[in-house]
Amino acid sequence: MLLKEICEELSTTLLKASKKDLNDPATHKEYNRTGERYYNLLLELLCRRTQEKPELTSFPTTNNEMIVCGPVDFYSLCPHHLALIFGKAYIGYVPRQKVLGLSKIPRLVRWLAGDLIKQEDLTVEISDNLEAAVFDESVRAMAPEVRHNGVAVVLRATHTCMMVRGVKVNNDCLTTTSSMTGCFLDSQKQARTEFLSFVHRGAGS
Ligand SMILES: [Zn+2]
Repeated sequence: MLLKEICEELSTTLLKASKKDLNDPATHKEYNRTGERYYNLLLELLCRRTQEKPELTSFPTTNNEMIVCGPVDFYSLCPHHLALIFGKAYIGYVPRQKVLGLSKIPRLVRWLAGDLIKQEDLTVEISDNLEAAVFDESVRAMAPEVRHNGVAVVLRATHTCMMVRGVKVNNDCLTTTSSMTGCFLDSQKQARTEFLSFVHRGAGS
């Protein structure tokens, strides 16, 4: 059965269960496209399955200072409850000879998030994709202590499956995850501290 048909069947079942009279012409007109709307909503939320991965165009640079982007809003579906996860991503990197086109980071974050994916895994996937896009393999193989560049990712998200069911946390309860490489792993070089101070300012705390 196609996903669209499943959405339409689910919609009809739920609408009937909530006592909507789908035979009434007025009600029918209001709800007859609910299944299709739900299907389109899922296609947006699962954009990783339906849209091409954004191409990560890079440009040469002589700048080797930290570049920080965020907050970038993202939306995912929890793979355990199919419930909405929404949050903000903060991305930093210290380049080496090349930088990414500025719009590429938000595009990558939103595309990678568009899946049934755990926040912990999404954090690492963003970090891995950026590492591969901005650094050559020889740089990526270097030990953190001797690397002057790297990638930092922090995600803060609300899991609606923790709000509306089970533990029922407050709606301002956020889950924070991070993934860092290279110079961001070395507190002596202060890249980590500088990046995290940006994240805290961006989060308004
Ligand atoms: Zn969940």
